[in-house]
Amino acid sequence: MRLFGTNGIRGKIGEEFTPDFLVRIGMAIGSYLPRGSKIIIGMDTRISGEMVKNAVISGLLSTGVNVIDIGIAPTPAIQLYTKKHGDFGIAITASHNPPEFNGLKCIWRDGTELPREEEEKIESIFFSSNFRIVSWKEVGKYMSQCGANEEYIEAILSHVDVEKIKKRRFTVALDCANGASCFTTPYLLEKLGCRVLSINCQPDGTFPGHESEPRPENLQDLLFLVKESGADLGVAHDGDADRAIFIDEKGRYLYGDKTLALVDKEIAKRKGGKFVTPVSTSMVFEKVVKKYGGEVIYTKVGAPIVARKMIEENAIFGGEENGGLIFPEHQYCRDGAMALAKILEIMAKNGKKLSQLIDELPNYYQMKLSIQCDNDKKDKVLERLKQELKDENIKTLDGVKIIGEDWWVLIRPSGTEPIYRIYAEARNEEKVKKIAEKYRKILERIVKGV
Ligand code: MG
Repeated sequence: MRLFGTNGIRGKIGEEFTPDFLVRIGMAIGSYLPRGSKIIIGMDTRISGEMVKNAVISGLLSTGVNVIDIGIAPTPAIQLYTKKHGDFGIAITASHNPPEFNGLKCIWRDGTELPREEEEKIESIFFSSNFRIVSWKEVGKYMSQCGANEEYIEAILSHVDVEKIKKRRFTVALDCANGASCFTTPYLLEKLGCRVLSINCQPDGTFPGHESEPRPENLQDLLFLVKESGADLGVAHDGDADRAIFIDEKGRYLYGDKTLALVDKEIAKRKGGKFVTPVSTSMVFEKVVKKYGGEVIYTKVGAPIVARKMIEENAIFGGEENGGLIFPEHQYCRDGAMALAKILEIMAKNGKKLSQLIDELPNYYQMKLSIQCDNDKKDKVLERLKQELKDENIKTLDGVKIIGEDWWVLIRPSGTEPIYRIYAEARNEEKVKKIAEKYRKILERIVKGV
């Protein structure tokens, strides 16, 4: 049995997430850690945050570990604070899920997301109820601490050329999705000398503005604001602000792969080195890195996997196409505000508009499809797929990736849903449709036959 999904522990309030369940989670995590460990705990703006947090804290304290509560903070701020001041961290967040959900993300002492092997240890304590309940005089200590958000902002400022950014006096349209970044990004931008036009920057766990996933349909107000105000750019965070999605001054929504490639190019230009990204990333990433003599290392899909690989390889940059960028000089996790500061720095250094910088990148077309496939069929489907495509140029690091001349298709089972995903990319729209359709047919036939 599993407790942790790909994004920590998630559940609906009043259904999976009851006080009883959460106390036991706290007890399991506390029992997994040495007595006296210092646990940093923070949360996003969800209405259930206090209820979830206090239940988890109660469980933790009962096992003889100490808790430092830093209040509402973006996930990357909790990660940074854990790395600097704690032995372990917990972010109470369900990222971009609807408001009735909440979740727990466990953070290792180095600020990275907890590796799977460690999650398994917590799961085994949880399911066996093998808790370490300490005596009354050994119950852990609780402390609430302010200043984590300020420390986080200062850390970001230390990694960019503040003076150069300030000189440009950028106007930034900002959408915090009523989430944790309400407490950080407006202040960060102020310190970068920007004029801030804000929407949904008041914390509100009902998410009155829009759903907290920064998809184009949720950012219509921000698109409008950018166009009407003549802002230099727009930026939107998801609920826990580990990601940032950008809008250029023309009001174009920039998919995450564009900003990933832009930052990638700037870093590659300066120095070669190693760059890490999942197999699902646009080939623009690799083209740009190779042009400047760098090396690309591919991983399976998932930000924690990218982060671990970056540590192992001593990489200088990494990230995913959904707007999650990792800057190792700062910390080994996705960080939305850090990405924003870097984009502003790139605009300041190059003296160009965001649209110009984006249009200078090679242009590719992408398509994503999914087809239904029961979880218990997934392995067999993958085996058949590998067999059937063995004469093509394939890579099997994560699912099957078929690589052609200036195009590729990735077919992989979803880790969370009963579906197979197909990702395709090519030089033009017609081609991408054609190849996606071709492999969709093959996959469908195989799924039916299993
Ligand atoms: Mg998130």
